[in-house]
Amino acid sequence: MDEPVAPFREKAFGRFPFRSRAFIKIQEGCNNFCSYCIVPYARGRERSRALDEVLADCRQAVAAGFPELVLTGVNTCAYEDDGRGLNDLVDLLCREIPGSWRLRLSSTEPSPDNFGLLETMARHPERVCRFLHLALQHGSDRILRAMNRRYTTQEYAAFAAAARRLMPDIHLGSDVIVGFPGETEADFEQSCAFIRTMQFANLHVFSYSRRAGTPAAEMSGQVPEAVKKERHRVLEALGESMAAAFRQSQLGKILPVIFETIDGRGIAHGWSDNYLAVSRPAREVELRRIVPVEYRG
Ligand code: SF4
Repeated sequence: MDEPVAPFREKAFGRFPFRSRAFIKIQEGCNNFCSYCIVPYARGRERSRALDEVLADCRQAVAAGFPELVLTGVNTCAYEDDGRGLNDLVDLLCREIPGSWRLRLSSTEPSPDNFGLLETMARHPERVCRFLHLALQHGSDRILRAMNRRYTTQEYAAFAAAARRLMPDIHLGSDVIVGFPGETEADFEQSCAFIRTMQFANLHVFSYSRRAGTPAAEMSGQVPEAVKKERHRVLEALGESMAAAFRQSQLGKILPVIFETIDGRGIAHGWSDNYLAVSRPAREVELRRIVPVEYRG
C-alpha cells in the first residue's frame, strides 16, 4: 500500500548566479518505477508543493528582478495540489504575475494525458518558453515496455506533433538510453530511425548502467560495454546533426532573448525562449531583459 507523503520545502528556491534565472522546485519524487531507475527508491513517492506557496515564490522572484523562472522537479508533469495540475499552475502564474518575465518548464515527461499542458503553454506565448525536454529513452516499443515506460512511440510522436502544431519552432529535446538489457542491433536501428523522425533540437545520450535493486539490473541480455560505446557514438552524432538542423531552421527569425553574461571580449551571451545560444556585442544589448534579436546562428 502507498504510504502518505509529506509536502516538502527543501531547496525549493534556487538562484542562477547571473541573476537571470530563478529555479523554483515544485515537485519531488516519482511513482513511475521505470525498470532501470533508482529515483523512486532513492527520492520517494511523488509529492508537490502547495500552489499558493509556488505562486508566492514566483512573485518574489519576479519582484527581485529575475526575468526567467524555471519550474523544476523530478517530473514537473506530475505536479498536483488539491486536484490542480501543472497546466493549472502555469495558467495561474501567467495570469497573476504582471511584468516582463518568462516561464520555462524543465523535466517534463511525455504522457498521452498531458495534451492540456500543451494547450495552456500555447495560450501564453508571451510568457511560456517554447521549450520541452521530453525524455524518450528508446525508439522501440519492445524496449519501452521492458523499461516500463508509460507510452508507445506512436503516442510519443503524437505528443511531439501536437507540441509543434501549437507552438511552432518549439525546442524539443530528449534523453535516450543505449544498451538497455536485451537491446538487439535491430532494436537499436529502430530506435535511431524513430529518433531521426523526431528531429530533436538536442539529444542527451546515456549508456545503460546497472543500478542495484532495480528490475533491469537482474535482466538477462546485458549488452557488452564495447557495443554500448559504439551505439552511444552513433546516437551522439545523430543528436549533433539534428541540433545543427534546428539551429539552421531558426536563422533569420526574431527570437526573444535574455542576455546573461558578458565575456572578456565584450560579447554578451544569452538564450532565446526556444533555447538557442545567442551572442551580440555587449554595447548593443541590455542584460537580464527580454529583448527581440534576429538569430544569426
Ligand atoms: S526515469 Fe524518470 S519517470 Fe522513470 S522512474 Fe526514473 S525519475 Fe521516474
